[in-house]
Amino acid sequence: MTEDLNPFALAQQKLDEAAAILNLDDATHQMLRWPQRELHVTVPVRMDDGSTRIFHGFRVQYNDARGPTKGGIRFHPDETINTVRALAAWMTWKTAVVDVPLGGAKGGIICNPKELSLAELERMSRAYIRQVGRILGPEQDIPAPDINTNPQVMAWMADEFATMRGHNSFGMITGKPLSMGGSLGRGDATARGGAACLREAARELRIDLRGAKIAIQGFGNVGSYMHMLAQHQLGMQVVAVSDDVGGIFNAAGLDYETVRAHKQAHGSVLALPGSQPLTNAELLVLDVEVLVPAAIESVITAANAGNIRARIIAELANGPTTPAADAILYERGVYIIPDFLCNAGGVTVSYFEMVQNSYGFYWTEEMVHERLEAKMTAAFRAVHAGAQAHRVDNRMAAYLVAVARVAEAMKVRGWV
Ligand code: NAD
Repeated sequence: MTEDLNPFALAQQKLDEAAAILNLDDATHQMLRWPQRELHVTVPVRMDDGSTRIFHGFRVQYNDARGPTKGGIRFHPDETINTVRALAAWMTWKTAVVDVPLGGAKGGIICNPKELSLAELERMSRAYIRQVGRILGPEQDIPAPDINTNPQVMAWMADEFATMRGHNSFGMITGKPLSMGGSLGRGDATARGGAACLREAARELRIDLRGAKIAIQGFGNVGSYMHMLAQHQLGMQVVAVSDDVGGIFNAAGLDYETVRAHKQAHGSVLALPGSQPLTNAELLVLDVEVLVPAAIESVITAANAGNIRARIIAELANGPTTPAADAILYERGVYIIPDFLCNAGGVTVSYFEMVQNSYGFYWTEEMVHERLEAKMTAAFRAVHAGAQAHRVDNRMAAYLVAVARVAEAMKVRGWV
């Protein structure tokens, strides 16, 4: 059987399944199958050698029924309009499942940022905003960092937007540096949201996390903070972590601060004194209570799903589990906390950043943590209850919660 790998077709397929279960009327279903708006832009950038290169970019605003659209900007050589559409759809479901008053969007430029100097990157970031800035703004559409974009890029973009409008409008973009209206607590927000979901899932399953074993694939931004929280907040034993080169294992537990220092000094977690090497494939099937994919997509497949021994999979990465693996794991009773719920902590704190920008009044880190915990716990409860009520897996339950909320907003607005 040939698989359709167009990510937007896959996103539509999942929506179709949710629409059938929710018994959505045809107009509502069709409206949700497509982006409301997309802008395709051609971006000229002056290069350091004096030549001008032409780049192509997009901004897709998927659905704004619940509020202004929100979603990251990627700089990637393999960017396509269908990837951006799919990611914009998933942002719509993600903001709805955590119940923040926002819709979903995504943007990007087809480019390889590794081939650009810092000055070229700045000119490209500013040029992109000159093109798409006309459809952005705190009440329209608010970008954020994504692959290959960071707080510095957000700062250039906010500055260019301020120049276009003639006044500061920091709430037009999130993930900014603290000195320019960023929020405390954004760094570990995604992992912290995942840890809150994991705590709730363990409570449901009556698993005591204290001393329980956890393996984390990917020791990047999200995975390393998850290690910190699993060890220090949940009292778990992190027995394995990995990066793109490979993984390390210690049955007695790996200490977060030690692994982080080793990674900083050597560029990889590999060869940490006192640890044993293991492959990324071996990490996934370790005998642990909890498995956290926090690296890349499609690592849990039909080929290894039958061998996974974890009782809970907390998906911090986007799309780590294929549909075929999903079915096998559901059948085997493995509890999956699905990606757009589990990793929604980042967008939630991005929303807090917008709120703080609009008031010009900034919260303490404790306030951010407390409010994030409340949002994530409520979202987890809604999805868990949906799975029980509809007798579906947690992923479909998350779709049902999110799609029903967006459909309801479109209905009360009189769109459908
Ligand atoms: P990152 O680049 O900081 O870290 C990625 C980690 O994965 C690195 O340790 C890298 O070495 C490792 N890795 C790369 N290829 C691998 C491979 N083939 N096998 C095993 N490990 C590999 O990225 P990040 O921001 O931590 O994002 C990780 C995942 O979380 C992605 O799927 C991303 O979409 C998702 N996510 C991130 C955020 C966020 O706030 N950063 C929010 C939502 C979702």
